[in-house]
This record gives sequence, C-alpha cells and structure tokens, in this order.
Amino acid sequence: MNKRFLYAGMLIASVWFVGCNNESVVHEAEHEEHEVHFSYDGETGPDYWGSIKEEWRTCDHGLDFTQVVEGELHQSPIDFEHAMAAAPAYTLDYDKEVQFKMANNGHTIIFNVEENSSRAHVTIGGKVYELKQFHFHSASEHTQHEVHAAMEGHFVNVAEDGSIAVIGMFIDNVAGSGNEALGDAFGVEIPEEGEENPTVITLNPSEMLPGGNVYSYSGSLTTPPCTEEVAWNVYEAHIGLHEDKVKAFQEHYDHNFRPLTGLY
Ligand SMILES: [Zn+2]
Repeated sequence: MNKRFLYAGMLIASVWFVGCNNESVVHEAEHEEHEVHFSYDGETGPDYWGSIKEEWRTCDHGLDFTQVVEGELHQSPIDFEHAMAAAPAYTLDYDKEVQFKMANNGHTIIFNVEENSSRAHVTIGGKVYELKQFHFHSASEHTQHEVHAAMEGHFVNVAEDGSIAVIGMFIDNVAGSGNEALGDAFGVEIPEEGEENPTVITLNPSEMLPGGNVYSYSGSLTTPPCTEEVAWNVYEAHIGLHEDKVKAFQEHYDHNFRPLTGLY
C-alpha cells in the first residue's frame, strides 16, 4: 500500500474539515487535488459518497439513472432471494498456490496478490479476469432475504480492458475451526491502518470458496467511485471463520459494509 499517499489524504481531509467554514474556496481547491476520505458513518458515510466528489456521483445516481430499466441492476449490494441462485456460468482457474500479502488500507483488510506470484483467473463469457486481491466486509454487504452474515469476502478480478468481476462469499462466525484456508489467511497479525504485514502468505484461493450455486448479477463496486458493470457472483452457501478471527477483524472493522442502496 502507498502509506504516504494515504496519510497525506487523511491530513488534507482533516485540514478540510477544520478549515472549511472560514476558507472554503481555498480548501476546496486543495481537497480536489488529493485523495478524499470516505467512511461508513457520519458526514463521509454511504449516504454522502455521491456528493463528496464529482467522480463519485455514480454512488448516488447509478451510471445513468434516467435510463434505469426495470430488472436491470446497477448499484451494489442487493438482497438475494433463493430463486436467484443457479449453477455458476463461469470457469474458475483458482486451484493453485498464489502468494499474497495482507494490508490494512483504512477501509478493509486486503490480501494483495504478490507481483511475482502465479496468477489465478476467472473466465466469464469468454473474457478472462485476473485475480488481483481479496478483502472483507463486516457485516456482509449482500443479504439473503434481508439477513446479513457476520462477514463477506470479495475476490476482485480484473480483465485486460479494465472490466471487473467479483466472486463473493458469505462468512459465518463459528466456534469450530471453520474454513481452513480462510483461517490460514487470517493466521498473520492484522497490521495497523496504512500498514502492510511483510509476511508472504501462500494460499489456494479455490479452497476458500464454498462451491455450489451462485447469485449472478451486474452491479457496482461497493466503495467509491461505485463503478458499474461489475460482474457479481456470490455463493449461496456460507463458509465459517473461527470466532477469534472474526473478532480480530472486527476490532479493526466492525461496520465497513455499504447498506442496501435501493438504486437497482
Ligand atoms: Zn468489497
């Protein structure tokens, strides 16, 4: 992670919040040139993402809110109903050893694929998307019949043309050992905000997925800039993570989920 950049953004954001009453024009100019802060509550929370900065307007309005067609989904997350689940329409090339490092980017705990690692892919409709990272939310962002799981994992895959496919999974807080590979992922110490744990973690991503049917739809990123036309595939079945590891995650992020938006 680029720590300096993150801290510079936080500093400018605090300057902005302290100074905006008196010198709004000057600070607005500074504000635009730097990474702008978003959060999950208060004045930089999900209700305001779309108005914090021009490039994030999609968070409020969808890609083209005037042309929303009924049944055509845009902003994520959404609520799933049982009838939506079906056999996956993609081919996974995840059954291999991939090297990651864990980082705390100020919004979530993220596992970035190492530069010289072997690569995992998902192929959807003939298009190949490469796995770049996976990260987590608590509680889950998607819901099933409006019920949240304790956490949700997102495997973010990017195609050569920049289009994005996310494989998602619900994670339950369990007293037993839970999913072994996911437990291994959380086997290293979670770093402080803006930091990376230098330990290289080797994982087989396919072992973290529950298998079975998936909910598939076209939605968006669930963080600013809320980019649309993201191919979502979320497993209907859940996996488990031991309660101590869920707790360790929640000590850093206990509400980093975007609520249901209704913009779909
Ligand atoms: Zn996510």
